[in-house]
Amino acid sequence: MPGGSPQTLRPFLWRAAQLYPETEVVSRTHDGITRYDYGTYADRVAQLANALDAAGYGDGERLGTFCWNHHRHFETYFGIPGMGAQLHTINPLLPDKHVQYIVENAEDETIFVDQSFLPKLEGSVADDPDPFDSVERFVVMGESVPETDLDAVAYDSFVDGHSTTYDWPELDEERPAGLCYTSGTTGRPKGVEYTQQMLWSHTMALQTPQGLPLAEDDVVMPVVPMFHVNAWGLPFSATAGGAKQVYPGPQPEPADLAHLIESEGVTITAGVPTVWLGLMDYVKENDVDLSQLERLVVGGSAAPEAMIRFFDDHGVELVHAWGMTETAPVGAVSHLKHGLDDADYETQLEKRSKQGLIVPGLEFEVVDDEGEAVPHDGEAYGELLIRGPWVTTEYFARPEATEREFENGYLKTGDVVSVDEDGYIKIVDRSKDVIKSGGEWISSQELENELMAHEGVSEAAVIGVPHERWQERPLALVVPAEDADTDSLAEELRDHVLDSYPKWWVPDSVVTIEEVPKTATGKFDKQALREEYGDESLV
Ligand code: ADP
Repeated sequence: MPGGSPQTLRPFLWRAAQLYPETEVVSRTHDGITRYDYGTYADRVAQLANALDAAGYGDGERLGTFCWNHHRHFETYFGIPGMGAQLHTINPLLPDKHVQYIVENAEDETIFVDQSFLPKLEGSVADDPDPFDSVERFVVMGESVPETDLDAVAYDSFVDGHSTTYDWPELDEERPAGLCYTSGTTGRPKGVEYTQQMLWSHTMALQTPQGLPLAEDDVVMPVVPMFHVNAWGLPFSATAGGAKQVYPGPQPEPADLAHLIESEGVTITAGVPTVWLGLMDYVKENDVDLSQLERLVVGGSAAPEAMIRFFDDHGVELVHAWGMTETAPVGAVSHLKHGLDDADYETQLEKRSKQGLIVPGLEFEVVDDEGEAVPHDGEAYGELLIRGPWVTTEYFARPEATEREFENGYLKTGDVVSVDEDGYIKIVDRSKDVIKSGGEWISSQELENELMAHEGVSEAAVIGVPHERWQERPLALVVPAEDADTDSLAEELRDHVLDSYPKWWVPDSVVTIEEVPKTATGKFDKQALREEYGDESLV
């Protein structure tokens, strides 16, 4: 190692404690707002590390968390990997069978669980205790433990009484620090390990101007769950930059988010489009002061153009980003390239709606079915392959999936993309969501965005259904807006799509539904829709 110290998370916490001991960490909990500063945070993280040490951990053991975004969860972010164990964030919104599979596959030794998720975990353990054989204890996030059949201790009593100083070890940068499973939109969850070095390099890339940089005058509120790819790495980069952090706690509603944005002076927040659709509706009906909010980061699914316009109109810059569990997660961010600053608004909007420019440190290729590189002309499609220091090269304990989804050091993303002359990557669709009609491709994602731009539509999902002649045809599932005229909506939507797309792109059928089912990470659950509506007689 030619450098003076390995690339680990340790210096990020050290820096925040040294330089910004009075900067706040704010957390919404069931009991109201908790706030303390980085000085106290660092003390509590050291106490947690001592508690884990006393429990015999420190040698790569996997310790699970089953929690919302709050300060105790944030303490595990530095405490667990810092002392040499592995932070395994588990998505509590997954079906029980996935949670069981994940705990069994990861062999977690302790699980930190929110009180509100305790019944779910109890149910899961009662249902199938075998996967939980490895678990020695459950630590309930709070001051006390409610009635439970599980062998549980309260987080505060687990940590309290331990020393507020800890001799942080010098860890090898290859040591696994994190673990997160993909949410299984496309099959059984697959585990992705993050080494110390991967988290370090991802943090440093986020902190570049081409990433999502955070500084001491920022107030960052990660709405994206901490159980989903480390809340996109923001807890680490916010600490590295010394930003104030605001954690929105259990099940935040749009009103909670609006309140925190106003009262804590949030300057940057991040989450999936569904969250912001909710906030948009709330802002339309209520008087919300967004004047301090500078950036709103959207990723996980495509940001509809209408959403970008809405936040522009409210003086908030919507930053579109792309990533995957496998890429830790940030891979591309849609900043305007030099030269586009003074382009007209529509040209800028077209670029900003794309998933963006690859962040410094990564490389990508786009290849067709034969593995040939496609031209970067904004038209040709192919699969996105990506590699870099924080892109994984394997799945945890799943050799068959590793063989299928990695090639020559590149991750095969399963995303079908085009790249324009300026290098902006545009996700056309996920390969399994693309609709193949008469040998041509129709992007379900583009159709969804087009439908959602119509005022009569609140949400829209498009799936391909089998068709005798064309192989597949698009079917639109639409949640009408409150004041929409549902009698004429289907006809209006056909005309609306025809305004911008060829006739063969127009969905053959428009079905009105009450709600689009969502996956555990808030994305449209196309699998569930295919199961329910993938019946050719509808077309
Ligand atoms: P999964 O949804 O399989 O659980 P992830 O949460 O890791 O896994 O999601 C990664 C996928 O989400 C990407 O491969 C891509 O298809 C989609 N995605 C992420 N960001 C965007 C975006 N800005 N626009 C469109 N799709 C996106």
